Amino acid sequence: MRAVDDHPVCQNVPRLFIPGPVEVEEEILQAMTRPMIGHRTREFSVLGEELHRNSQRFFRTENPVYLLTSSGTGGMESAVRNGVRENVICFINGAFSERFYKVCVSNGKNTTRVEIPWGEAVKPEKVREELSRGSFDAVTIVHNETSTGVMSPLADIAEVISEFDDVFLLVDAITSAAAVPIHLGDMAPIDYLTTGSQKALALPPGLALLAVSERAHERAATIENRGLYFDVLEMHKSWQKNQTPNTPTIALLQALKDRLSMILDDEGRWYGGHMERAELTREWARDRFEIFAESGFESVSLTCIENTHGISVADLNEKLREHDMFLSNGYGHLKEKTFRIGHMGAVTLDDTKELLGLIDDFIASS
Ligand SMILES: *Cc1c(COP(=O)(O)O)cnc(C)c1O
Repeated sequence: MRAVDDHPVCQNVPRLFIPGPVEVEEEILQAMTRPMIGHRTREFSVLGEELHRNSQRFFRTENPVYLLTSSGTGGMESAVRNGVRENVICFINGAFSERFYKVCVSNGKNTTRVEIPWGEAVKPEKVREELSRGSFDAVTIVHNETSTGVMSPLADIAEVISEFDDVFLLVDAITSAAAVPIHLGDMAPIDYLTTGSQKALALPPGLALLAVSERAHERAATIENRGLYFDVLEMHKSWQKNQTPNTPTIALLQALKDRLSMILDDEGRWYGGHMERAELTREWARDRFEIFAESGFESVSLTCIENTHGISVADLNEKLREHDMFLSNGYGHLKEKTFRIGHMGAVTLDDTKELLGLIDDFIASS
């Protein structure tokens, strides 16, 4: 059982195997209790400078990475408001890419949707084909679809998009950045790429990192009504002073500071751990069920398992709760048809083994 205080809400908190929010280690949570500092002070600029430098190292980029006080969807909205001139095409292979589409529509963009069956990846050839059909100035892609456990080949997609003149690529990397290495400096341009703190970055919710391309600012300057809170030109002015335009979530930034150093200290260990947990889970799932993702595009961040035994996922979760664990039912219409096991956050290979063992016990007894 985890260390909890005696407030009723804090008792018997199950360990999270859901794909966000994820488990956060005590030492990272403790970072959030550091003394408050003013966001217009030299202390903040010291913190900001380190965060900016380390997020650039994290993404292997020379371009700015902005720190947004919002959940991941805020990063998506910023990408759309600053990055889409008029005509955007959205590749939709699950619930979160559907959300990207909605963000475009609700911001008044002329939005084209391309539907790809849930469980399949967005393929570079498909992107090329669809882009050749019309005139678009931006594309949205979700790198890792959390609803289906599918990871699309981001570098290859970026390469294809670079064949087209002046088409921006906007990426939701909310459950991929920090689960797999994303080296922006080695890839064809990705104009906007957003993360969310409560997913693979393994922090509490409330923070998004937004990595932008070199050409992003130039286009943003030509777009009217970008709004204020998510305006990248405002962000850039503050970034140059190692600050943020508005009061940021300082406590979370303290935790991000520790998380980034932890990852950068030993990237092999960090990314290797995710891969180990994913591979163990996939092997286990193939023996007993089926994996929902098309072969070759299985996510490293989570495994979405097809419930071929027709077990009650709700009952399974009740059983797991007795052992202080908790996984995710299928998303939306996939509820009870699939279930999802997360590999992000402060869970170990042994924790994952324990979870899989408990599911085996549940199958045997049902
Ligand atoms: C969780 C998630 C989001 C954003 O959700 P927020 O609640 O806004 O943080 C977006 N895309 C994907 C792929 C996600 O998993």
